Amino acid sequence: MNHAIRRVVIAGGGTAGWMVAAALSKTLGRLLDIRLVESDEIGTVGVGEATIPSLQTFHALLGLDEREFMAATQATFKLGIRFEHWRAPGTAYFHGFGTTGQDHWTAGFQHFWLAGRARGLLAGEAADYGAYALEAQAAALGRFGHGPDDSPRYAYHLDATRYARLLRRVSEARGVQRLEGRIAEVLADTATGTIRALRLASGALVEGDLFVDCTGFRGLLIGETLKVGYEDWSHWLFNDSAVALQTASVGEPMPYTRAIAHGFGWQWRIPLQHRVGNGLVYASRHVDDTTALAALRGGLQGEELTTPRVLRFRPGQRVEAWRGNCVAVGLAGGFLEPLESTSIYLIQRAVIRLLQMFPRQAVAAADVAEFNRQMRADFEHVRDFIVLHFHVTGRTDTPYWQACREMSVPPTLRHRLELFRETARVFRVDGELFAENSWVQVMLGQGLVPAQHHPVADLMDDAELAGFLQQQRVAAGRAAQALPRHAATLQHWCAAPRE
Ligand SMILES: Cc1cc2nc3c(=O)[nH]c(=O)nc-3n(C[C@H](O)[C@H](O)[C@H](O)COP(=O)(O)OP(=O)(O)OC[C@H]3O[C@@H](n4cnc5c(N)ncnc54)[C@H](O)[C@@H]3O)c2cc1C
Repeated sequence: MNHAIRRVVIAGGGTAGWMVAAALSKTLGRLLDIRLVESDEIGTVGVGEATIPSLQTFHALLGLDEREFMAATQATFKLGIRFEHWRAPGTAYFHGFGTTGQDHWTAGFQHFWLAGRARGLLAGEAADYGAYALEAQAAALGRFGHGPDDSPRYAYHLDATRYARLLRRVSEARGVQRLEGRIAEVLADTATGTIRALRLASGALVEGDLFVDCTGFRGLLIGETLKVGYEDWSHWLFNDSAVALQTASVGEPMPYTRAIAHGFGWQWRIPLQHRVGNGLVYASRHVDDTTALAALRGGLQGEELTTPRVLRFRPGQRVEAWRGNCVAVGLAGGFLEPLESTSIYLIQRAVIRLLQMFPRQAVAAADVAEFNRQMRADFEHVRDFIVLHFHVTGRTDTPYWQACREMSVPPTLRHRLELFRETARVFRVDGELFAENSWVQVMLGQGLVPAQHHPVADLMDDAELAGFLQQQRVAAGRAAQALPRHAATLQHWCAAPRE
């Protein structure tokens, strides 16, 4: 068979580059000649360690065994994110991956919980929305296990460098050729958006039919060469910097990510089997690097294992992720801060889409337009969800939080907030990442209390409603108690070999 699009060149070997290489070689490898160029001298961004459950689908596509993957990347399980000090200093809530309580087909569980609250039936633990979710309960107890029933929904924390190494091994075994070297020049016809070859610093020429730009923030092919613009969202997302460092583990790894709000940003804490990943994301307009680092250090446990690294970024997305014969994946295609661990997911979406729209004889303009439309929809959806965390807050203690509260949010988010505030309803549009329960957990957690609930909850009298809510809470608690400790599951399921 004569395929005109046969030579694929992936520029960059971070998480994005190797995810593209692994998926392409597994799916279309027999038809393609795939080469990946990366430069040890430049290195990778080296962060990106919390994920969401969709990564399991990606691994199923690759045929990657969970135990092998977890042992190779020192991974732990993740049930969700604990948000601390977001609504107000001293408060916390959990955004878990599963469901909360039992829905009625007319109305989500939140309507019943809100009815109970309005009638004064919820006191103490029962007033916490997370008390009705297995994931939140298990997280609080430090428990995780794969069970035949009542298994929690989960994702992973992983070591980014080891993950790229694992995907490299998988890709090379399927015929991907890795070329080490710095790309010194991109030979292209910018008028048509056609890239012909990459010239490496050694002088070697790497020619291709299709180029995937995975060169990170700089977007060497899509941005610097083809001059595709970048849509800046810093008027909605004020953070533009992060400082990251790794520490030694202290105690058992907990099965969740912590996102701890500060006066000018927030801090992550990601437990792995062999260490903990930490970082503070902040707005350089509101705080300098030295103060940010001091704030990060103030909240650390365990000995520091690495020198702190400051990273700069611009929140936003590439105006077109695909132009001509160049597709940008990963940081080259856009970046949203890691508050909901969505970057690796967005890479996955781009890779799957590229596979679904893979050209045969020539790149079709209709495919390109559709790819760009779908990627834009994904980015905007994730953007709205992240902006929600900053905008809906009771915090007024610093100029940063005051500015977050006062900003004018995207119209799509404004609509969702109004709908929830007035009716407690959330509707998910086809293809959107975050389901109703994610929006509800975060909106309630951030302090947005709806004015009313669905009348179906009023069909129950006080005793019935109290009994129904208690039953949901007790069921979640029992299921969580029945799980083994997370550390024990790691030990017998996927302990990483000693090095
Ligand atoms: C602070 C922070 C925290 C994050 N946390 C998370 C998280 O928890 N979860 C999540 O999903 N994502 C997270 N991310 C995003 C995640 O790190 C990235 O999406 C992911 O690592 C993919 O990066 P990349 O491969 O696109 O770029 P990079 O890792 O930067 O890789 C770029 C590659 O291009 C190569 N390259 C560049 N220029 C050249 C050249 N001239 N010649 C040859 N090679 C070149 C480099 O050598 C490298 O191999 C985070 C990002 C940041 C900044």
